[in-house]
Amino acid sequence: VLTVNQTIDWMKETYRQLKDNYDQLTGLDQAVGDGDHGMNMVSGFQEVVNKMNETSYESASDVLKSAAMTLKGKVGGTSGSLYGTAFLKMSVALEGKPVTKQAFKEAIDQAVEGLQSYGHATFGEKTLVDVWIQVAAYLEEETEIDWQEITEVCQATIEDTREMIATKGKAASLKEQTLGHVDPGSMSSFYLFQSLADVLT
Ligand code: ADP
Ligand code: MG
Ligand code: MG
Repeated sequence: VLTVNQTIDWMKETYRQLKDNYDQLTGLDQAVGDGDHGMNMVSGFQEVVNKMNETSYESASDVLKSAAMTLKGKVGGTSGSLYGTAFLKMSVALEGKPVTKQAFKEAIDQAVEGLQSYGHATFGEKTLVDVWIQVAAYLEEETEIDWQEITEVCQATIEDTREMIATKGKAASLKEQTLGHVDPGSMSSFYLFQSLADVLT
């Protein structure tokens, strides 16, 4: 499902969408965190794109590994480590394999596992893990991937995070005050998957 060039385009499109929505991501993190999520994501993916422009890659796995290393190295904040971990797990899962639907599904499963072992968040704690778990569940159910449907799954999940009380990350200290607010990391994960859908359709 994912060639090397499509993977590079995925990262570039993600950067574009995050940049276009910088103010929204900043506002969401101002409401429930420290306000730097837009900054962390846009500057992090800017570095990823810079790196992609000066490197040649052999496989989707290589691209994801490079993105992971850049995000882990360059992004201050929890999100750099989280997205870095997710991409690194995907990279390892896809290493030396053609990216079939099954391989992609397994890569997402590994990413979820990595996110959860890094941050110890389970479903419903109002973190980006909620979005990744729902994408994994979609891939488990469906035999054919409909990227538009994945975008819709993510959209529904970010709305669900509004009704959740944060129990992980900086938002956890605000408890009930997080009700009514969308989780910033879930929103950036929505842009990530929407970008993938846009590149592949
Ligand atoms: P920081 O919280 O360090 O300022 P960001 O603002 O960039 O980092 O990212 C915040 C996002 O990270 C949250 O909206 C949430 O989705 C995610 N997050 C925070 N802590 C965790 C955790 N323990 N597990 C999973 N995701 C988390
Ligand atoms: Mg923050
Ligand atoms: Mg911060």
